[in-house]
Amino acid sequence: MIKYKRIVLKVSGEALGGANGFGIQPPVIKLIAEQIKKVHELGVQIAIVCGGGNIWRGETGAQMGMERAQADYMGMLATVMNGLALQDSLENLGVPTRVQTSIEMRQIAEPYIRRKAVRHLEKGRVVIFAGGTGNPYFSTDTTAALRAAEIDADVILMAKNGVDGVYSADPNKDASAVKFEELTHMDIINKDLHVMDSTASTLSMDNDIPLVVFNLNDPDNIKKVVEGENIGTTIKG
Ligand code: UDP
Repeated sequence: MIKYKRIVLKVSGEALGGANGFGIQPPVIKLIAEQIKKVHELGVQIAIVCGGGNIWRGETGAQMGMERAQADYMGMLATVMNGLALQDSLENLGVPTRVQTSIEMRQIAEPYIRRKAVRHLEKGRVVIFAGGTGNPYFSTDTTAALRAAEIDADVILMAKNGVDGVYSADPNKDASAVKFEELTHMDIINKDLHVMDSTASTLSMDNDIPLVVFNLNDPDNIKKVVEGENIGTTIKG
């Protein structure tokens, strides 16, 4: 049984960088691509939003004196590099893909066109949304919420690196931290749980998009979530 027929999978930049979270590690990306292939084979329509934090974060540049918008555009470019790496890995496994960028760069990817993205999904192509929203001061979490609303996705799957859901505190630092099975988007904002930034949370809440936060490190987890197995933390309402 498939619970979610059209998904937005948010892959953070950190997840593509392997153990230290930096750079692009093709063997690590291959493991993610293999997981995606399994879900693709179930007939699930898959859109992916890539982060860029493994290469560059605008905020870091701003903290070091750069103009924030300029630094953010660099971050958006970083997400395109990740998108291309993911495309390469998926196509190597025989999964058809299209990359769409929010900022035009026609020589390497299609520009983002909502109706075209939906058509690709209907034809069984994995669509990779790169370039974030195309606007500085936003995040790729917000991009995931925005694209999920635009393409009418059933869920956002928030794949995490090494943590299996949302906890009351950082489980690596606080032994009393407890895992939540279910939360509302408002809980995330009120309890300041840092699952995603507040812009992404409110957008998900206003458009009634559920979110599942789970650990990417288990090779069957994306499939398990799509099939409705109760893993990670579900955020809805
Ligand atoms: N970014 C942006 N607008 C967007 C999406 C991303 O300016 O709509 C920039 C921002 O500088 C951010 C960087 O791209 O720090 C990388 O994205 P993000 O931090 O969301 O990546 P992740 O944490 O998921 O790896």
